[in-house]
Amino acid sequence: MNPDGLKDHITSILSSLPSHVLLVAAAKTRNAEEVRAAIDAGIQAIGYNYVQEAEDIRKELEKGGTRISRVRWHLIGHLQRNKAKKAVHLFDMIETIDSNRIAEAVNRHCKAAGITMPVLIEINSGEESSKTGVLPDDAPALVRKTAALKHLKVQGLMTMGPRFGDPENARPYFRLTKKLFDRLKEENIPNIDLKYISMGMSNSYRQAIEEGANIIRIGTKLFGERDYS
Ligand SMILES: *Cc1c(COP(=O)(O)O)cnc(C)c1O
Repeated sequence: MNPDGLKDHITSILSSLPSHVLLVAAAKTRNAEEVRAAIDAGIQAIGYNYVQEAEDIRKELEKGGTRISRVRWHLIGHLQRNKAKKAVHLFDMIETIDSNRIAEAVNRHCKAAGITMPVLIEINSGEESSKTGVLPDDAPALVRKTAALKHLKVQGLMTMGPRFGDPENARPYFRLTKKLFDRLKEENIPNIDLKYISMGMSNSYRQAIEEGANIIRIGTKLFGERDYS
């Protein structure tokens, strides 16, 4: 997509969003030019699925003179333990904590780096074994355990839901996640600050916002179809 087209898409989506909703540009497969154009168009957060891809693009942007600290960097893909150290140095938020093991690994590297990392707990709201995320029933225990880790700050929940098809079919997954969020809030767990629900993608972000999302992650609708070749 050319920078003007991208700018138009971003401006029109941003102006259509309620002010409490943060738009994360899901930038996988996009080149530095496209990411730079998105930042110039007013995007405030960039989401990456892979640690390595984020590192490469950040380097390229910096080389080109873009101040990468102008935006917040969110990890939105599954995190492997051997990438936790790098992730801690690259991202401002990790949206995909889904096990005690990964929470502890991230906490350890945050402690070493002397920082506290805002995190979301990823919910496998479809309860599909092929998907990442913690099962809804196991989420409260994971939230409590993560809350006890001093260098992580649990700020909410994230879920994927179905990517394609009628976005109305995504509502049950969004509702389940919101219900879980409300239930956790009532628990008044110490050392957490539940305020974000990250859900909704290009085809489903309107439904997600109606169901309570205040972070949405959009790729295709900003940048155009992805080319994985
Ligand atoms: C790719 C991706 C998105 C955005 O998907 P689109 O359909 O391109 O908007 C959102 N969240 C995650 C975790 C993704 O991997």
